[in-house]
Amino acid sequence: MPLEVTLIDYARDPLTKLYGAYRTCYTPKTPREVWEEIGDGRITQDAIRQFIAERLKTGHASPLEQVVFWFGISGVSRALSHQFVRHRIGISFEQQSQRYVKYKEERLDYVMPKSWGKAPGMADEYDRLMKEITRVYEDALKKGIPAEDARFVLPNATPTNFQVMVNFTELLHIADLRLCWRAQWEIRQMVAQMRRAVMDAVPEIGGYLQPKCGEKRMGYCDEPVKEWELCPIGKVRPHKEQLLEVFRQHKAGHLQALTEHDLRTVEDAGQDGEPG
Ligand SMILES: Cc1cc2nc3c(=O)[nH]c(=O)nc-3n(C[C@H](O)[C@H](O)[C@H](O)COP(=O)(O)OP(=O)(O)OC[C@H]3O[C@@H](n4cnc5c(N)ncnc54)[C@H](O)[C@@H]3O)c2cc1C
Repeated sequence: MPLEVTLIDYARDPLTKLYGAYRTCYTPKTPREVWEEIGDGRITQDAIRQFIAERLKTGHASPLEQVVFWFGISGVSRALSHQFVRHRIGISFEQQSQRYVKYKEERLDYVMPKSWGKAPGMADEYDRLMKEITRVYEDALKKGIPAEDARFVLPNATPTNFQVMVNFTELLHIADLRLCWRAQWEIRQMVAQMRRAVMDAVPEIGGYLQPKCGEKRMGYCDEPVKEWELCPIGKVRPHKEQLLEVFRQHKAGHLQALTEHDLRTVEDAGQDGEPG
């Protein structure tokens, strides 16, 4: 069963709601007046988009809590779900029960990391173990052990399903952490699919779902330097230590001085009609 993410729905008209929320903060008008302007077209969709884009450049993030998404998620492991449910603010989970749902497959439809497939002979070992676990689990059910107790033999590889409701502030935070290269591969892939679904539905805000080093988020990496060096996008993101080094140099008055050549380069820029 492959990992599958479905964007079930999102709260109607998210951009207009976001506009209303931000506008209420910055206008002497009442929300009723603001919403009348939206309703009769005095505020155009373009104006709404522009206003939101400007606000999103600031740190005023609480209005994003008023934008809500629902996802259906299936084919993920219990190893993933243990991590996912640690997010506790602005997100609500419903997860398939192992008390009320009994696994009826001949062999548990387990999740297998690729690393097991690469290690010689280990994929077969994994499969053999899953078959054995399924056999013991089924035997336990047949012999009257309740599902809530039979499940004690089930592994982290057991698949599970979710319906999740999450607001956009929390989704940004989850993307910060879980799109980062340091997150575990399965949860990273799941959040990547959530990102793509939001990008398709509401690209105006979907683009902000990035790992925390993204230019629309912190813009730099704060993970250990050794990890940053290994990260596939480490080369295109500055590390926090680099930024602090520039700051230290500046404070100590050691910032590299601009040379006559640097100054000439700026002076001469644009003389040939090009912007420079
Ligand atoms: C790479 C990685 C490795 C990890 N390794 C481990 C591990 O080894 N062991 C482990 O136990 N967990 C681990 N975790 C899980 C991690 O510790 C968090 O539990 C998880 O990422 C949930 O994030 P969050 O705490 O930001 O919760 P969220 O619910 O997403 O919280 C959102 C934000 O709300 C604020 N907030 C939430 N609750 C409170 C509160 N009670 N008081 C004050 N502010 C609050 C915080 O600012 C928080 O960041 C790991 C996570 C990652 C990404």
